[in-house]
Amino acid sequence: MQQPFVRFEHVEKSYDGKQLVVRDLSLDIAQGEFLTLLGPSGSGKTTTLMMLAGFETATSGEIYLDGKPINRIAPEHRNIGMVFQSYALFPHMTVAENVGFPLSVRGITGEAAHSRVMAALDKVGLKGLESRRPAQMSGGQQQRVAVARALVFEPKLVLMDEPLSALDKQLREQLQYEIKRLHNELGITIVYVTHDQTEALAMSDRIAVFHQGRIQQIDIPTELYERPANAFVAQFIGENNTLSGKVSAVSGNTCQVTLADGTVITGQSVKTPTVGDATLVSIRPERVRLNPHSQGDDSQVAATVVDITYLGRYARLRLKACGLGDFIVTLPNDGRDLALANGSAVNLGWSAVDCRVLDSE
Ligand code: ADP
Repeated sequence: MQQPFVRFEHVEKSYDGKQLVVRDLSLDIAQGEFLTLLGPSGSGKTTTLMMLAGFETATSGEIYLDGKPINRIAPEHRNIGMVFQSYALFPHMTVAENVGFPLSVRGITGEAAHSRVMAALDKVGLKGLESRRPAQMSGGQQQRVAVARALVFEPKLVLMDEPLSALDKQLREQLQYEIKRLHNELGITIVYVTHDQTEALAMSDRIAVFHQGRIQQIDIPTELYERPANAFVAQFIGENNTLSGKVSAVSGNTCQVTLADGTVITGQSVKTPTVGDATLVSIRPERVRLNPHSQGDDSQVAATVVDITYLGRYARLRLKACGLGDFIVTLPNDGRDLALANGSAVNLGWSAVDCRVLDSE
């Protein structure tokens, strides 16, 4: 990376002087990047975003913006656009007045302000609604106003904290697409907070996965999904079958794991394991084959169907396998009848590359 646009250097935050809610955070964000902070509630995402915005101060460490330390710079002098979940619009002001607000506090008024407000409203598809008040608009429209307000002073960096969480699924997907389009068109850097992994996968250039105030893994979406670094990331991003066992043989990065019920399976290890190590193994439901015809699968295990749920695009099977009572397999709907009764005996197979051998913690 060239000089990062944003840099967190060993940043920590405690609200009460005892417990750290952000721990030893070092993170570089490139200019023009769409970076998402993803994690469960309470993992430190908003605190991290608020320290970058300047509404919270770091307990230790330093944050740099465009090469300059900003810990002592007030939020209004950082020139960062913000969009919140709650829209935070002024109810007594019209749409145009709301969007123009950041310009008026910067001393930009009159025709110069008017043309920028109209351009920002055009970008978010709200032309013609400039005289409405927020209460006369839908949630989706109000959030578009908030996005226009964040963009109107042409900041290079825009922070978004769960901006779409209050909207229903269809609207959320539409606005995800529009925010992504604006990001591409304007070349701005966006730091985005969400607890929704699907949203993070759909929108981000890179995702930083937070858990208990620490980044567990930071990577592009495909790597996070295909190669989770630890059991937390494997469970948090997508669905996974997690099995515990002991490493019984190692050959390069492939190893055999003996599960508690004696089943031996083959997987690829994230780190270099040693025979005898306790380990967790994770296998994605969509990578498991049912009654595989070829012998090409690196692992084959016997299983019993517990139940099948028909979900339209795919079927979700719950099985007894590998000592688990709820081993999940998803099968795409290819139009054929699965013709499987609950209680049927089947075989499951998968390739070693789809079976990740993780650290046990
Ligand atoms: P997230 O955005 O991932 O949900 P937060 O950064 O909001 O996480 O919170 C991290 C932790 O810090 C939580 O335990 C939360 O209760 C605590 N916390 C957040 N804001 C404050 C505050 N203003 N005062 C005290 N504790 C806070």
